[in-house]
Amino acid sequence: MSRTTLARRTALVVTCEHGGNDVPAEYAAAFRGAAKVLASHRGYDPGALELARRFAAELHAPLFFATVSRLVVELNRSPHHRALFSQFTRPLPEATRRQILERHYLPYRTAVEREIARLVGAPGTIVRHLSVHTFTPVLDGETRRADIGLLYDPRRPLERAWCSAWRDALLEARPDLIVRRNYPYRGTSDGFVTYLRRRFPANRYAGIELEVNQKYPLAGGVAWRRLIADLTQTLSMTSRTT
Ligand SMILES: [Zn+2]
Repeated sequence: MSRTTLARRTALVVTCEHGGNDVPAEYAAAFRGAAKVLASHRGYDPGALELARRFAAELHAPLFFATVSRLVVELNRSPHHRALFSQFTRPLPEATRRQILERHYLPYRTAVEREIARLVGAPGTIVRHLSVHTFTPVLDGETRRADIGLLYDPRRPLERAWCSAWRDALLEARPDLIVRRNYPYRGTSDGFVTYLRRRFPANRYAGIELEVNQKYPLAGGVAWRRLIADLTQTLSMTSRTT
């Protein structure tokens, strides 16, 4: 009798596309007078990098992050998406935009894709990719009624199961939280994870996005620290099982 069944192994990869609001010096002129926008949720995801770092450290997962502002180039959009460049960088000469892609977009996207390809290539391994984000509590005058959003593609069973399990674990630990699925965005909208789903099969790659309400990192203090601890603990419980 041959033993062809391989043990299933899970590999977690953590990414953070909107970790900072840096503007490289060579593009600073395009951002004159934009300090306020850069410091807002439009410039980056407050708290996301702190969260991503904690996940990666506690769960011994590789971490990929960017600290160049999404207003320079939007790492969570596909190359041909109209929102790839912002109002500040869209008017720049084509050569400059190409340089931005070559220096700040492609290296990040390629590094993550390569690492996932390497892990997917290991027999019996399921790659779980967690893309960490935070969302503004009020958008266009509308208050968003959620603390946590878990974004996935409902057609991919591994992602659906992972988000359900994580949501259940979170609500068990923190019944006071509002945890919603595919909120405040749909998991299937254009994004880095959406792109990677087309590269890797659903039974080997599960990519989800975590969205945390920025009211926690912006207020800081004990509530934010407690949320980080609870998210880390429940992620650890639900990211290893298949
Ligand atoms: Zn984000």
